[in-house]
Amino acid sequence: MSQPIRVTIWNEYVHELKDDTVRSIYPDGIHKQLATGISEFGDFSIRTATLKEPNHGLGPEILDQTDTLIWWGHAAHNQVADETARLVQEKVLDGMGFIGLHSAHFSKPFKLLMGTSCGLKWREADEKERLWNLQPNHPIMDGIGDYIEIKETEMYGERFDIPTPDELLMMSWFQGGEVFRSVCTWSRGYGRVVYVRPGHETLPIYHNKEILRLVANSASWAKRRVSINAQECVNVKKALEVVPSPTKKHIL
Ligand code: ZN
Repeated sequence: MSQPIRVTIWNEYVHELKDDTVRSIYPDGIHKQLATGISEFGDFSIRTATLKEPNHGLGPEILDQTDTLIWWGHAAHNQVADETARLVQEKVLDGMGFIGLHSAHFSKPFKLLMGTSCGLKWREADEKERLWNLQPNHPIMDGIGDYIEIKETEMYGERFDIPTPDELLMMSWFQGGEVFRSVCTWSRGYGRVVYVRPGHETLPIYHNKEILRLVANSASWAKRRVSINAQECVNVKKALEVVPSPTKKHIL
């Protein structure tokens, strides 16, 4: 029997504590709603972590025991320690999966993993969004129809300054006319990265079963397959065959 996928859901957990609208939609925090919501769509062992915990709830041991890290951030990207962001990046390079949700496009770990500005256009006008399924045969799209319709959403528009995705799985159309690359994947080192656009703290988007399925499928697909220290350059002193200068000294 396969083991449950070990998922850590990270939430800055700021809006929910100070805004009545956000609290009414996510009374226990977006992280708790996601934890409950995605459980229906996968075999997960879930822990959560938030900004105010020591080390933001993310030490090396926790990340080593995480198969997929899901990241929600919006108002407090700059309060995340550079050290933690770099650690997350390294752990992805070593094999951990990373899911960036919605406004996590501007989070420190996602920007490090992308290496670009990750800027985009946006508008809050409660408009309609249709996310079109471009790869129905992809595991992340399992159970998703031709499109997902969200009645009221925040618009994100192109250009989204990301490296060209390895796979573009969903493209959004917005009532106001813009389009957006909404579900994208990349390989980074030994790890997998997925960006999933839908979300927003003042709208109940993480109560939508189709969106929860999308997040769950992404977490399953991106799960750790290996744990390899990608930060090492290994000096292979013993060659498989006879080589011309086996005792040659390396100049330091
Ligand atoms: Zn938003």
